[in-house]
Amino acid sequence: MELFNTLGGKIEPLTPVGAPALRMYCCGPTVYDYGHIGNFRTFLHVDVLRRFMRQQGMAIDYVMNVTDVDDKIIRNAAAAGVPIGEYTAKYERAFFEDSDALGIERPEEIARATSCIPDMVALIQKLAAKDIAYQAEDGSWYFRIHRFPEYGKLSKKDFEGIEDGARVDVDEYEKDAARDFALWKAVKPGEQSWDTELGAGRPGWHIECSAMAMKFLGETFDLHAGGEDLMFPHHENEIAQSESATGHTFARHWMHVRFLLVEGRKMSKSEGNFYTLRDLLLKGHRASAIRFLLISVPYRNQMNFTFESLTESTNAVERLRTFHQRMLKGGFPEGLNPEIAAATATASADFTAALANDLNTAEARAAIFDLVRAANSAADAGTLRADNVAEILKVMALFDGVFAVLEDNDTIVTRAAIAWAEAEGRIGEADASLVATLALSDEAIDALVAERTQAKKTRNFARADAIRNELLAKGILLEDSKDGVRWKRK
Ligand code: AMP
Ligand code: ZN
Repeated sequence: MELFNTLGGKIEPLTPVGAPALRMYCCGPTVYDYGHIGNFRTFLHVDVLRRFMRQQGMAIDYVMNVTDVDDKIIRNAAAAGVPIGEYTAKYERAFFEDSDALGIERPEEIARATSCIPDMVALIQKLAAKDIAYQAEDGSWYFRIHRFPEYGKLSKKDFEGIEDGARVDVDEYEKDAARDFALWKAVKPGEQSWDTELGAGRPGWHIECSAMAMKFLGETFDLHAGGEDLMFPHHENEIAQSESATGHTFARHWMHVRFLLVEGRKMSKSEGNFYTLRDLLLKGHRASAIRFLLISVPYRNQMNFTFESLTESTNAVERLRTFHQRMLKGGFPEGLNPEIAAATATASADFTAALANDLNTAEARAAIFDLVRAANSAADAGTLRADNVAEILKVMALFDGVFAVLEDNDTIVTRAAIAWAEAEGRIGEADASLVATLALSDEAIDALVAERTQAKKTRNFARADAIRNELLAKGILLEDSKDGVRWKRK
């Protein structure tokens, strides 16, 4: 497996060093609101990487943090008049529900910032003992960046002539400034704080990730991931703090997922092009189609999300599922079609090679669709054979081990989103016909379909048509076939 390493500036082999498992860390969500599709683009590509590495026989030890204390959380919790723990619990729960809905596997370890305060304090003390951390007049602690000459090595910024002592106390600051940054923020009136040997206060954002990554993965580990916006200052600061404290390389390999744009523009609430996963589910878009779309564009390419591409993705997933069902159903004559056998072997090799090459999900996906096309044509022409199917199903399993879209959980996920919207008093945001469709259970639909079949048998066509129309109005399509009636939700 080879992956672009931001630190080395080139594609490099990704291998575990000094441990049987690949030790990896990803900066997780700041739980002050619902996750948007940009956030999930990043977490989905980490999921793809992880699933693929495991498929290649590598054990993975993946730690993700949850930032449950920061400037925004403190501000929002205060505005809502609740303690920060209560405020963040709701959004943390929502984040994992959304991750599950998108088929993102849970990390081996989830580290909450507020559970690791003593580790952060210990790390700052270690830096203070070397005079790399210092306390300012207001009681806050800062990192002295001119003591870390390699500052800028990740983001490739040149900070020649860093001004010693120029400070900044917000977590995210100007893109080109090198400033001493806050490690520990002294308590301000009314803010939640922890009483520690550094004084009363709370951790800065950057120290969280250094302390938590090293706590669970050791001083040096294999891979650190996050969205491209985190490269500077966040990841640069993580490196500076950790390597100054330990004298060792922090993470060997750095993976940055490029940003997602919506309809060509940066996603923002004021532009009206900002979408959480829940927004899309309530409009009737399927979780599987969203997953498939967000991972189909390779992680180092900028991605432009459009509703047209989401529709295309919905159709693509549908095609894959129909094909998979067709193969499972079988009924093909004995024997082997050598042309299809060759196409199957090619698809399998191309799929793996594409992912092994810097996680090229677009090419991996194309390899599978080539096979779907060839096998469907052969099946239509009556030349597909039973022995081909067994091999094709193995390739589909390989594909689905990484892409994870064949199993249909879409209705369950959308029902849960509607239940959430109802509980939150936001059902008005949901598409009305979607709500009507999902109000009908599968059993209720089956019963109506059976009644219609019976009505047709007794030549009561008026009743049969009425049932068809009633179902259609609720978004249920009926398909009469020689094996009976099939239905599906629009
Ligand atoms: P946050 O909760 O804002 O800390 O972000 C969580 C993760 O999502 C981080 O790794 C961010 O870099 C990433 N992220 C935020 N916005 C986008 C976007 N538009 N596209 C891709 N990743 C993003
Ligand atoms: Zn981080």
